[in-house]
Amino acid sequence: MSQNILVLLEATADGQLAKSADGLLGAASKLGSPIALFVGQEENTESLASAAAALGAVKVLVSDGVADSYVAPIVDALAASFDKLQPEAVLAAHSDLSKEAIARFAARVGCAVSIDAVDLSRDEEGIVAHHSAYGGAYTVTSTATFGTLAVTVRQGAVEHRAAGAPLDIEKLEVASSNTKSAKITSVEIADAPTESRPELRGATRVVSGGRGLGSAEKFTLVEELADTLGAAVGASRAAVDAGFVPQSLQVGQTGVQVAPQLYIALGISGAIQHKAGMQTSKTIIAINKDETAPIFDIADFGVVGDVFVVVPQLIAALKD
Ligand SMILES: Cc1cc2nc3c(=O)[nH]c(=O)nc-3n(C[C@H](O)[C@H](O)[C@H](O)COP(=O)(O)OP(=O)(O)OC[C@H]3O[C@@H](n4cnc5c(N)ncnc54)[C@H](O)[C@@H]3O)c2cc1C
Repeated sequence: MSQNILVLLEATADGQLAKSADGLLGAASKLGSPIALFVGQEENTESLASAAAALGAVKVLVSDGVADSYVAPIVDALAASFDKLQPEAVLAAHSDLSKEAIARFAARVGCAVSIDAVDLSRDEEGIVAHHSAYGGAYTVTSTATFGTLAVTVRQGAVEHRAAGAPLDIEKLEVASSNTKSAKITSVEIADAPTESRPELRGATRVVSGGRGLGSAEKFTLVEELADTLGAAVGASRAAVDAGFVPQSLQVGQTGVQVAPQLYIALGISGAIQHKAGMQTSKTIIAINKDETAPIFDIADFGVVGDVFVVVPQLIAALKD
């Protein structure tokens, strides 16, 4: 089998390279030769391919796809790339779109799937995916007993970055399987991040608030600290359920899963369902007035105190 690592890349609705690309290509470069695949981005193929090469793709395969079809053309293109390259692994983002594409692709070609990897490595028998399970309580590994391993990778979890490569684009010939496919009739970007505040998924810094903030008005303290740090805003489910912020900001098992360099939890107790979405953050800081709060078990730095006393001082110190 080759040491080709096929990497399915996504573009955003406004035609940019999705933020998952750097971690995917970084992970692929640890294992072999990263070969990127884009589907259905005719207008800006060149700029997307250049961005992928700058992130380490040694070759970029492009397939026209069918612009308004959901998933099926991606599966066709993955299968065609698979036949062409015989890759040792296929990596994709752990996003709704890529999860569905990878599942269908694996079923079609009959390869093993590992879901939600936080890292990848190689041992003497092949490629190994690493996972953070049960809210981060366990680290487990998975691998294929034979053949190619298809893996979805949690965004933000892989730190390794590949060196840039010269641009090498190749048009991929894809025979359509004519699989029935949902049609995309319109695209509306919900809760678009503002220029001053990054999007939660993929952010390198996140400041999250919980029920301890007390009200939507007081939740602005979380936003103020986030803006001081150039961080994204997140929240616990209790804060969402109480109406402090929209559900799109929920971090956790049933919300967004993040793995930033810095995660600050304000007035969050640290329930297992919350930890499931942030435990792989590189540095965790917790501020909570209850010294027995479970969030302190996973925090690298903890402050036992009232957020309304501690955070304004922190903001003032950061602004000094
Ligand atoms: C199936 C299922 C899925 C779930 N999915 C998620 C999920 O995705 N994400 C998620 O977050 N939760 C999820 N939950 C809910 C989860 O179990 C907890 O209920 C929730 O995370 C608690 O949120 P919290 O920490 O903000 O609230 P609490 O547990 O009420 O904690 C509030 C904390 O604030 C502290 N505090 C209060 N006032 C102050 C102050 N002035 N200064 C400092 N600290 C203060 C308190 O000491 C306390 O520790 C899920 C639950 C279930 C059953």
